Amino acid sequence: MTAAPAEPVIRIAGITKSFGSHQVLKGIDLAVGKGEVVAIIGPSGSGKTTLLRCINFLEEYDGGSVRIDGVEVGYKDTADGRRRRSDRELARIRVEAAMVFQQFNLFPHLTAAQNVMLGLVKSRGKSKGEARQIAEKWLTRVGLAAKFDALPSQLSGGQQQRVGITRAVAMEPKVLLLDEITSALDPELVGEVLAVVQELAAEGRTMILVTHEMAFAREVADRVVFTDQGRIVIDAPPATVFDDQPNERLRSFLSRFA
Ligand code: ADP
Repeated sequence: MTAAPAEPVIRIAGITKSFGSHQVLKGIDLAVGKGEVVAIIGPSGSGKTTLLRCINFLEEYDGGSVRIDGVEVGYKDTADGRRRRSDRELARIRVEAAMVFQQFNLFPHLTAAQNVMLGLVKSRGKSKGEARQIAEKWLTRVGLAAKFDALPSQLSGGQQQRVGITRAVAMEPKVLLLDEITSALDPELVGEVLAVVQELAAEGRTMILVTHEMAFAREVADRVVFTDQGRIVIDAPPATVFDDQPNERLRSFLSRFA
């Protein structure tokens, strides 16, 4: 007897999203299993960031569903139809899909350690002492042992983004969402941030990352999803996407990185 396949950590089914009359997501289906790393690539404006933000409802999808470990993120079915979740319910669910942003989004008046501690205390119910210990452990791991008490303005872009990653991963979310996390960095700082992501992937953390770093996507991802004009055109292993390039739109897109 074979075991039933495990429910994916993330199951996206038929989501749609419009801004005014512009439909940005035209029915997206995507399932991500535990420990999988999925890279989303595609032309600017194809809906990559919007898709990522729909996963934790930072962007409210119009139709379809997003489930994290079987729990619908943004809406709840009730006797009289679909109801948007309360902010309190959303906050609880969002913790499981922590996001790292292109512009870091650290609190400028808080130190590196305090930025990491905040969510641990507020959303995970840790005491300040415990949260400090977790923050120090993680910041040490990403090479920032000397920077616990530095403010973001005293850190390089690469260091700030390592704090950003630490803040997300310290929450032990079910999935990490990484939105073009190296796009705002000087080229010489990209490597130190990608090295951290690589380590997290190697230890089996579930991740969805939007990236323009094709070599990195090829190396780190189990699957690569190519989006164009609000649809997923290809969802395949990196070798298929980058070597076989089985689609004209994909070929045209990848030729820009050659
Ligand atoms: P990508 O990440 O692939 O570059 P985005 O998801 O950022 O694409 O954007 C997809 C489309 O949605 C773009 O045309 C963009 O201008 C539009 N868009 C994104 N966010 C908003 C918003 N808050 N209001 C209006 N239009 C938006």
